[in-house]
Amino acid sequence: MSDICVEITGLKKSFGPLEVLKNIDLQVNRGDVVCIIGPSGSGKSTLLRCVNLLEEPNGGKVVVNGVELTDPDVDIDLARTKIGMVFQSFNLFSHLNVLNNLTVAQRKVLKRDEREAQEIGLRNLERVGLSEKANSMPAQLSGGQQQRVAIARALSMDPEVMLFDEPTSALDPELVGDVLGVMRQLADEGMTMLVVTHEMQFAREVADKVIFMDGGYIVEAGPADEVIGNPQEERTKSFLSRVL
Ligand code: ADP
Ligand code: MG
Repeated sequence: MSDICVEITGLKKSFGPLEVLKNIDLQVNRGDVVCIIGPSGSGKSTLLRCVNLLEEPNGGKVVVNGVELTDPDVDIDLARTKIGMVFQSFNLFSHLNVLNNLTVAQRKVLKRDEREAQEIGLRNLERVGLSEKANSMPAQLSGGQQQRVAIARALSMDPEVMLFDEPTSALDPELVGDVLGVMRQLADEGMTMLVVTHEMQFAREVADKVIFMDGGYIVEAGPADEVIGNPQEERTKSFLSRVL
């Protein structure tokens, strides 16, 4: 397989008359962590959602793992199984215990049998440091623990790339570190990750590339030390001065 995991070219997305993504080109190499930063409403979530076609682009191409998702003939459900997504709101199934949260899609989508799905689920719970919570209900867990379960659930599908949309924004400050710690560990293990975040410290330390978005465009992109440490564009400087 090629070294490119996600390739986006000329991506456009509108909601009615509102042009949200104007012309996005983005390449994510296998094993890289790309952090997307930018003001609210700049199109960050829409971009992420176009990567797995939760939003259907109005123009341009999205290729993930060599499969063009924007090709109308593609099996989008199959392609999506290789793309993990973690949202700001954890979206666990509240009526299922933790382990069943981790096994349901494995069984229904990947057709794994119960025993295999449980083994894989338990392995991924261990990865996020929550082995002892397998039988807990989501409501019994802290927000940080619920988010780590959501990450374990995504990992249980053996994704080739993980998309994170502000995974720590809904958490109490003291719980943010545990979730970022898990993400850092995934990055160290070589997971390809696209992360929308306001955690500038995380972006600086973990990202191979940082993208600053504003008004539906990528305004500035490059190594974290350049984009965050020494931004060239006025809009980037102004955004960073407000969040740092
Ligand atoms: P960000 O994640 O950077 O805050 P979003 O991608 O969520 O930005 O939103 C970008 C713009 O698109 C905003 O103006 C938002 O209101 C609009 N938008 C997002 N999703 C929809 C939708 N489903 N329908 C209409 N407008 C939307
Ligand atoms: Mg958003």
